[in-house]
Amino acid sequence: MKITHIEHLGIAVKSLEEAIPFYEEVLGLKCYAIEEVAEQKVKTAFFMVGQTKIELLESTDPEGPVGSFIEKRGQGIHHLAFAVEGLQKNLNYLEEKGIRLIDKTPRKGAEGLNIAFLHPKSTFGVLTELCEKPKQ
Ligand code: ZN
Repeated sequence: MKITHIEHLGIAVKSLEEAIPFYEEVLGLKCYAIEEVAEQKVKTAFFMVGQTKIELLESTDPEGPVGSFIEKRGQGIHHLAFAVEGLQKNLNYLEEKGIRLIDKTPRKGAEGLNIAFLHPKSTFGVLTELCEKPKQ
């Protein structure tokens, strides 16, 4: 396994419009991108904190993964994302270790990253995402 840093923290919010002013006006961070990820049924807003990002997630569909998360558990930390080198290699390694994978092969996430999720049942309750920048 080769983790380089925490790429981002995903935080589920009911409304980006309501949450962004807290991050900008109270915490003094700058929202540098808003992006809809249709496949995940979310709209995302990104803030940079050092090398790590905060990714706010607003559901665009109550039946989507973030919509049902908020329905069950309320707003709050949704997932933790590690930047890794060699995403597919890491997934193969984790599968060998018996870790339950949501994605056995990488898919496209926000910001053009290749991403894959590990199942929270295998990660002590934390939905964990691995990300890798696609090779240029
Ligand atoms: Zn994420």
